[in-house]
Amino acid sequence: MTNINFDLPSDVLDEIQHNIQSIIESFDIPDDNKFEVIRKINFMYTQTKQLSITDALTNLYNRRYFETSFKREYARAKRYNSDLSIVVVDIDWFKKINDTYGHTCGDYVLRELSWIMAENFRQTDIIFRYGGEEFVVLLTETPCEKAIVPVSRLRAKVEENNFRFKGISLNITISAGISSNKNTSDADEMFENADKALYQAKNDGRNCIRTVG
Ligand code: GH3
Ligand code: MG
Ligand code: MG
Repeated sequence: MTNINFDLPSDVLDEIQHNIQSIIESFDIPDDNKFEVIRKINFMYTQTKQLSITDALTNLYNRRYFETSFKREYARAKRYNSDLSIVVVDIDWFKKINDTYGHTCGDYVLRELSWIMAENFRQTDIIFRYGGEEFVVLLTETPCEKAIVPVSRLRAKVEENNFRFKGISLNITISAGISSNKNTSDADEMFENADKALYQAKNDGRNCIRTVG
């Protein structure tokens, strides 16, 4: 089957192929036209699917895709008895940036941070914009103590990065909470642990990382 690659994750591509196959099978399309029909459906479907899982501002995966991915990765890790870590990243005092320099400046910070995050993590780690100024990263095959390494690197990179908007230098820092699937009974519990860790990092003065589990 024709495959237009928009760099979609393999699970999404599989879903598309499967659904197109079902559509094609349910219609009696003459063989002469089949290839062209499949090509057109594939193009439109893939484009729409990509939009539905992407955050428009940062180009990272969005919250909708996070929900699906997290459930899938949690179940997979449980089945194969493997490690999975989750990181919740939150920009410190972000409201002040918007209030002082305006939303366009805030949006610039969100995009620049997304770029730093994409550079910082492994290809197998999945990065999402969870909402507002909060990001989530799923690190497969990674226990909590190992996840600390790239997250610490990210924290330092953000602190050192020269965020410049219209000639103004901005001091941006992040706080992060990390948890793993160890000793949890479901994905919600794992997420809550990372959220608790983030809350702890904020309480401990921000610009730092805390872990739970
Ligand atoms: P804390 O260190 O406790 O996290 O403080 P904070 O100011 O970062 O947190 P708070 O939750 O009070 O504010 C988050 C702000 O994020 C509120 C809103 O102005 C901003 N925000 C949310 N979404 C967007 C967006 O898409 N663009 C811009 N520019 N700002 C956003
Ligand atoms: Mg927040
Ligand atoms: Mg914040």
